[in-house]
Order: sequence, then structure tokens, then C-alpha cells
Amino acid sequence: MIPFSSALTNTPHWQQQLADAFRSPRQLLRHLGLETHWHPGLERVAQDFPLRVTRHFADLMEPGNPNDPLLLQVLPSLHEGEPAPGFGSDPTGDRLARTGPGLLRKYHGRALIIATGSCAIHCRYCFRRHFPYREERADRRHWPALFEILAGDPTLTEVILSGGDPLMLGNQQLEELVERIGRLSRVRRLRIHSRLPVVLPGRLDDGLIQLLARSRLACTLVLHVNHPAELSTPLAQALRPLRQEGIQVLNQSVLLRGINDDLETQVSLCEKLFDFGILPYYLHQMDKVDGAAHFEVPAHRAKELHQAMRNLLPGYLLPRLVVEEVGAPSKLPLE
Ligand SMILES: *Cc1c(COP(=O)(O)O)cnc(C)c1O
Ligand code: SF4
Repeated sequence: MIPFSSALTNTPHWQQQLADAFRSPRQLLRHLGLETHWHPGLERVAQDFPLRVTRHFADLMEPGNPNDPLLLQVLPSLHEGEPAPGFGSDPTGDRLARTGPGLLRKYHGRALIIATGSCAIHCRYCFRRHFPYREERADRRHWPALFEILAGDPTLTEVILSGGDPLMLGNQQLEELVERIGRLSRVRRLRIHSRLPVVLPGRLDDGLIQLLARSRLACTLVLHVNHPAELSTPLAQALRPLRQEGIQVLNQSVLLRGINDDLETQVSLCEKLFDFGILPYYLHQMDKVDGAAHFEVPAHRAKELHQAMRNLLPGYLLPRLVVEEVGAPSKLPLE
């Protein structure tokens, strides 16, 4: 039987699930049986950068645990308003790296397209939480200008779709975008940076996998998973057909105080990623974005943790510990 809702509309199931996301601290805390942890100040913090989290991700949280590592990533905190020296609104120098509408160019051979400004989840530590998405995203009306710039770049071999979250675009728009990238004769690789499959595994639908499989480009999906509890059975199932089509799956995570800054969590994350067919790629030292100072892990602790991980994990499961420095020609190893 065709489910009632999709029989009546053409809206894909994942988009219906997006519409059903939690959008206020009160609503989320009530769902987790944590009403007593609600505070009106949380709603005020959420006015600047709203709470947003899918039901799937919320269901991976432990009810009744105010320190749940998934909850802490999305729940606004009163600490966000505290002044923090050295933190700013554009810690990665994105405004300087802009070379066209929604186009960032920092590293040799690779161009990054801000395909959309929206995300299915709002991570409180997000380095783009203050990014002017309204003006700076590669809307369809900007595509002609964008592709003219890309076509004129003889060094370009890889295009990265980022955002926001590029998988917030529907399959039809993505297919057009991927097809246009495929027409850039020197480009060989396409990379998609997305957290959507983690918070909504149904996003990896047949249409998406087929459109990537049809492209002549070698495709890599870089997920963003910070904690082993984010790796769910529906995600494992959704990744299988993708990998059968030869699409590489990597992971990047952000080192976050009180969430994943301990050896046991990091080792368990890397091993579980491998079980899911995902290779750890980067462990990022958090970018110093306003409002996120309470998540910061000092560099010396990050280095110690990484060294301890190196002693326990096979080399291919050790993510590179990196930090982004404005103006540097690559992400820099934290050494
Ligand atoms: C991180 C980033 C990339 C990709 O860097 P890799 O080291 O290749 O993963 C490319 N462009 C921009 C603007 C970036 O911020
Ligand atoms: S999914 Fe990525 S871009 Fe979106 S809020 Fe989270 S960290 Fe930021």
C-alpha cells in the first residue's frame, strides 16, 4: 500500500521528515524528559541561531540525560553570549576567500561551492553560523557567472559542494549542478560535504545515488560525525548501495569539549566508522567562532589525545588532526 501522505503529494519522504524537525529548546527538552532543564534564556539564545534538529537525531539521544553528547551539539547554551577573546564571526577567512557568487577558493586545484545556506541540523559550534548566506550562496540565478569562473580556471581538478548542507537541495537541482560540473573538462573529482545522511539517513535515496553514479566524475561523500552514537543502523543501511556504486565515504569531525574529547570516544568513533564503511579523514580543532568558546579543547590537549589515538589505532583509522588558518595554503596539521 502506498502511504497516505506520499500518495497525496510529490514531496519526497525525507523532505516531509525535515518539516517535522524540532525547532525550539522547549520542544526538544520535553521530548527527552528534561523539562526542568528548560530556561527562557535558551529561547533568547536560539533567536540568533535557531535550534534545529531532526527527530531521527533526537531519537539517538539518551532520554533524561542533560549531558548527552548529541544533545550538547544542538542545544543552545547561555555560554554562547559570553565574550571570548580571539573568537570572531568569520574565523576561517571565508569572506576573503570568495572569488564569485557562493564560491570559495583557498587551496590548489579545489573550488568550494556554497550550494545552499540551509541545514537539517544546527550545530552550535558551526564555523559558518554567522556567514551571510542570504547574499553568499550559489543560487541557480548565479550559476552562469559561477560556471564561467570555474571554466576559466586551468588548475581546477576538484569541485566541492558544501554549504550549509548541499544535500538540502532536491535531486533535480543537484543533478543539474553535478551535470554542469561534469562538463568542466579538467575537473575529475566531485566531493560532497554533508551531515544530512547522519541526521536523516533517508536522504540517501535511490535518486541521489543514481545521479552520482551516472556522473563521469569520481564522487566522494564526506560525512560529519562527531560521536559514535550518531552512527545508526538506518545510516549503515543507507550507505550500502552508495558504496556499491563505488562512491567513497569519508568522515570529518570537530573536537568538542565534553562531547568527544576523550580517548575512548575517539577510538570507538574511528572503529565504528570503519564498520560502516567510512574512513576517518579529518579531526578538526574547532574554529574560533563567536558563541562556541565553551566547546574549545586547548591545542596541547588535542595533540595529546591525538598521540594517544595513534598508539591505539591502525594508521588507516587515524584521522588527521588539523586546524584552519586564514591564508594558509592547506589545512594545517596541529603539531
Ligand atoms: C576545507 C576546504 C577545502 C578542502 O580541503 P581538503 O584539505 O582538500 O579537504 C577546500 N576549499 C575550502 C574553501 C575549504 O575550506
Ligand atoms: S551541518 Fe555543518 S554547516 Fe550545518 S550547522 Fe552543522 S556544522 Fe554548520
